[in-house]
Amino acid sequence: MKKRVLITGGAGFIGSWLCDRFHSENFEVITLDNLLTGNIKNIEHLFGREGFVFLEHDVTDYIHVPGPLDFILHFASPASPIDYLELPIQTLKVGALGTHKVLGLAKAKKARLLLASTSEVYGDPLEHPQKESYWGNVNPIGPRGVYDEAKRFAEALTMAYHRYHGVETRIARIFNTYGPRMRLHDGRAIPNFINQALRGEKITVFGSGNQTRSFCYISDLVEGICRLLFSEKPGIEEPVNLGNPEEMTVLDLARRTIQMIPGKGDAEGRIEFKPLPEDDPRVRKPDISRAQKLLSWNPGISLEQGLRQTIGYFSEQFTRESKSNAKSQ
Ligand code: UDP
Repeated sequence: MKKRVLITGGAGFIGSWLCDRFHSENFEVITLDNLLTGNIKNIEHLFGREGFVFLEHDVTDYIHVPGPLDFILHFASPASPIDYLELPIQTLKVGALGTHKVLGLAKAKKARLLLASTSEVYGDPLEHPQKESYWGNVNPIGPRGVYDEAKRFAEALTMAYHRYHGVETRIARIFNTYGPRMRLHDGRAIPNFINQALRGEKITVFGSGNQTRSFCYISDLVEGICRLLFSEKPGIEEPVNLGNPEEMTVLDLARRTIQMIPGKGDAEGRIEFKPLPEDDPRVRKPDISRAQKLLSWNPGISLEQGLRQTIGYFSEQFTRESKSNAKSQ
């Protein structure tokens, strides 16, 4: 019998790559998405294939999945700062009520659940790099609080279901991830920079650009998620950081994008500084020693390789968008 996995947020950026991975490994994949920020195009190629089912459904409503379930991957959530501003209540609901629903389902089906948590639980961190033992520095009432606190609540609820109900759980704290299938107008740094460079617009660097991030390519992350889901090492229920520890400033990222997408004018002239959004974390870099030790996992794709793939994808999207705009004029 095929193992059955439920993936919430399966039409999203990370969720859709997980659908591909599990489907290609002969799992029966059931995916839920309300398409609020997800895009059906990300999983269209799986439609009609045996062992793949898509249900348009909001995970904060009661979930009924007929038959057994072995695994649940809870990846449904808006995930870009521009989405938190536009969808603050949905962001809180999916992290809190949605996590409650999937944990209840995991308990009923005796399925193992993996929660997609985030480096945002560390807030604007006072410890650097961030280890899993760090409790974070989050502003609960700021614009990002809706995401950060929902995920912190989701972690607490997941540990409670594990401790009180004995549900098998895993918590991945995911750091900045990028790659094909991010939305062209996603608003996060990498899609924004690539999109702007392709359009010949100025690259918008927020603040001085000295804030740092560490970017992980999607295929590395998917590998880490799978290893975490299947690991049975003692203590594996405690959160595990998954991210690429190669840290850089946002200004550096802008310069590297500019180098890879030639345009008019010198590099510095192609950058435009804009105000730093409220509560934008100053630094972020994962300490991945726990993932290395427990999962023997290390990211292997360099920023150069990852950006090349992502630029290829966005160029296609950009051409498609320009053609359909031209047609509608
Ligand atoms: N950022 C930027 N210009 C943009 C988009 C983002 O300078 O057009 C900065 C943002 O202020 C943050 C970093 O890039 O410091 C990463 O932002 P992103 O939204 O990708 O993710 P975050 O790590 O903040 O959740």
